[in-house]
Amino acid sequence: MSTGASAAPTHVDNPYAGATQYVNPTWSAAVEASAASAGDPTLAAKMRAIKNEPTAVWMDRISAITGNADGNGLKFHLDEALKQRQGSTPLVFNLVIYDLPGRDCYALASNGELPATDAGMARYKTEYIDPIAALLSDPKYQDIRISATIEPDSLPNLITNTSEPACQQAAPYYREGVKYALDKLHAIPNVYTYIDAAHSGWLGWPSNAAPAAKLFADVARSTVAGLASVDGFVTNTANTTPLVEPFLTNPTLQVGGNPVKSASFYEWNDDFDEIDWTAHLHSLLVAEGFPASTGMLIDTSRNGWGGSARPTAASTSTTLNTYVDQSRIDKRVHRGAWCNPLGAGIGERPQATPSGYASSHLDAFVWIKPPGESDGASSEIPNDQGKRFDRMCDPTFVASKLSNQLTGATPNAPLAGQWFDAQFRTLVENAYPVISTNGTTPPPTTPPPTTPPPTTPPPTTPPPTTPPPTTPPPTTPPPAGACAVTYTANSWNTGFTGSVRVTNTGSSALSAWSLTFSFPSGQQVTQGWSATWSQSGSVVTASNAAWNGSLAPNASVEIGFNGTHSGTNTAPTAFSLNGQACSVR
Ligand code: BGC
Repeated sequence: MSTGASAAPTHVDNPYAGATQYVNPTWSAAVEASAASAGDPTLAAKMRAIKNEPTAVWMDRISAITGNADGNGLKFHLDEALKQRQGSTPLVFNLVIYDLPGRDCYALASNGELPATDAGMARYKTEYIDPIAALLSDPKYQDIRISATIEPDSLPNLITNTSEPACQQAAPYYREGVKYALDKLHAIPNVYTYIDAAHSGWLGWPSNAAPAAKLFADVARSTVAGLASVDGFVTNTANTTPLVEPFLTNPTLQVGGNPVKSASFYEWNDDFDEIDWTAHLHSLLVAEGFPASTGMLIDTSRNGWGGSARPTAASTSTTLNTYVDQSRIDKRVHRGAWCNPLGAGIGERPQATPSGYASSHLDAFVWIKPPGESDGASSEIPNDQGKRFDRMCDPTFVASKLSNQLTGATPNAPLAGQWFDAQFRTLVENAYPVISTNGTTPPPTTPPPTTPPPTTPPPTTPPPTTPPPTTPPPTTPPPAGACAVTYTANSWNTGFTGSVRVTNTGSSALSAWSLTFSFPSGQQVTQGWSATWSQSGSVVTASNAAWNGSLAPNASVEIGFNGTHSGTNTAPTAFSLNGQACSVR
């Protein structure tokens, strides 16, 4: 019986089926900035071909909820998600819950802001989970399917790393925090909960896998709704373990008189890849009492392992380790190497219900770790997030945890979560499947395509590369200046979204920038992204965000804002960058 109010949508089995996914405009802008400064037209075209892929939004500290220097808050993203919804097609919003007390207890790079104490636990509940749950329960978002990845690495650390004092101290808070998150999030009908289940190279051994399934079941049973509070599990979050090892399909195959799984790289672990692990884990979960409908997600954002080092056939060696090392696509020195591994590439593009892996019960391939964001700094970088220097991120470090080998981490990495242009380049270069640009690459002199305004729903498939313009370029060069800007606005009633593309047309690289411009008709900026925004009278100032301060000659950055206007919404004037006048394109 209709009451006139819109009915809450049904909680479906697989939220990804038949749905589009939210494209984070901040991630897209970071990709565009890397493309604009790539210097290599083919690479830039590949970057642009993936810039409208959906990536998860991480709530990696309390301030991420309202927004901070690194990005917009949750409300901004949910409102954007509403705009991206196309007609009645459902849209999935990938959200990551990541702020447990004593976070990242076995490593340092993503240590968090909350201590593993009762006081830290209280803050986790009242200042972190409660406000997130309050926002997600706003009826205005009831048609968005929120897929929540719950606390990467936390419960897995309680399986393998309890000899570490920090993990011992964190253990009760991890259990209680995950229970609390499940209780609050499961109570919202359009939220889907996926518990992080590490990856095959961490939990695949039977001696880890069975206790992990049991721990997941125990924590789920402790919630109000019991096992029903969990919709599924997500593996490989922020890791680079392959989806499949195409030339190593049989762990018991004998080479040189020993099974392949006994090679140094696999250390007797039968689960060589994420397809193995999801299938294995699913069967254990069902044995623990979870329903067969429990769905699995795999983070495929960085597990492609393409490029010239990728083998094309199994090795013919009869020496076991040589056979495995030559056959495997995973080129890490060790499966425990987790920090910015060199050689990794973008993996399968996000997609719902990938076919061909029935035993894995996959809901989707997703991009939880936004490719291009660092896993950790390769040297000490002071910060106010609690993050520390983990030597697994230092390429000069010989790690005992990696059988005394160099880490293989990408050098010069910024803090975990910050944009890491050099890594993004290699991820795109080593993508597998290779990123298609439909055979066209824009000529180097063509200005890159302007990002569509945020109100335009992004395409669900990567857009074809913009063809070169059919009109000949102007014969007179634009006036010389330190910068050039392209401004676009998309207005409605009294609101509008403005986008500014800023290009450094000077001859030297900038390490920081500040753009000013003037509004002619009383417009007011209310919120901005990809820069720190302020306004004084008619003059607006946008200073670089932490991740986009460096601007090489000819490089561009895209920034944007929401604003108000009354009646007329004339384009701003007097653009200048670091005090130098800009030309308008
Ligand atoms: C960082 C977070 C970041 C996330 C996604 C984690 O390693 O600790 O701050 O949001 O990665 O890049």
